[in-house]
Amino acid sequence: MSEENAFPLFEDCCLPFQIENQDIKGRVVRLGRSVNDILSKHNYPDHVNKLLGETLAFTALIGSLMKYEGILTTQLKGNGPFRVMVSDFLKETENGIGNIRGYAAFDDVMSDSDTLTDMFGEGGYLAITIDQGKFMERYQGIVKLEGETITQAAEEYFRSSEQLPTKVMLFCEKDEEGKWQAGAIMIQHFARSAVGEHSRDQQETEDHWNTAAILLGSLKKSELLDRNLSLQNLLIRLYHESGVRIFEHTDVAAGCRCSEEKIRTALSSLDMQELQDVADDGIITVTCDFCTKDHKFELAKLMH
Ligand SMILES: [Zn+2]
Repeated sequence: MSEENAFPLFEDCCLPFQIENQDIKGRVVRLGRSVNDILSKHNYPDHVNKLLGETLAFTALIGSLMKYEGILTTQLKGNGPFRVMVSDFLKETENGIGNIRGYAAFDDVMSDSDTLTDMFGEGGYLAITIDQGKFMERYQGIVKLEGETITQAAEEYFRSSEQLPTKVMLFCEKDEEGKWQAGAIMIQHFARSAVGEHSRDQQETEDHWNTAAILLGSLKKSELLDRNLSLQNLLIRLYHESGVRIFEHTDVAAGCRCSEEKIRTALSSLDMQELQDVADDGIITVTCDFCTKDHKFELAKLMH
């Protein structure tokens, strides 16, 4: 275990790891306060909270992979009762903290037994956008929503975008005190260059992957979400036989980027009639989809 991760990490952080002497890398994230802050601001039914919580955990898991300062956005869209679910992760290199936020827009005709395709309809898709500004070209990957769960959609995304064997597990649930928690863990068999590198025995490599995937599959929701089990100990419990190397973690917090200035700019593109139509007693209120904050503007001040 490296020096910087000698202290135990319990929640609101993402921890990368590698199985010793194998070509298998992974990451684990557990969200406590951050996901509860986000979900408790909205008044969504529990099965929507669960889906959004899993999406937030997945977004933090892959968002923390960004090398540079940037924003990773996960969007699920469709033409079913669920119109859109969005979450994004802002990585700031200055303080080393990742900020997540998210929201959902849906018609109230779903039940908790619905699968992902029931919710998003036949044309549903998952889109991941990575914008690292001047540092790297903008990237977008899209996969159709065909499975029953976000976990299946996430695995399909890795299969099509990175073409690396990947196993993902995502969980979100409410504890006895009514607080939301979410967790995500993934392992990936990373590609090796065939030239100039020692190539491991094919059979051994396959065996490693199968064992690691079976062990990951044995992880229970209660373990991934156990606040008293540090993420380091969780990984050691899973991969103690081969050993596990742990790298520097990323802290994750709930955070929104909405600003009065941005909304004012958007409002300035409307004409006077449109502004009057949305005003109430001379005040225009714009509610942020993500954090539900009300931004208020005086109509008289906007009109000149
Ligand atoms: Zn906001």
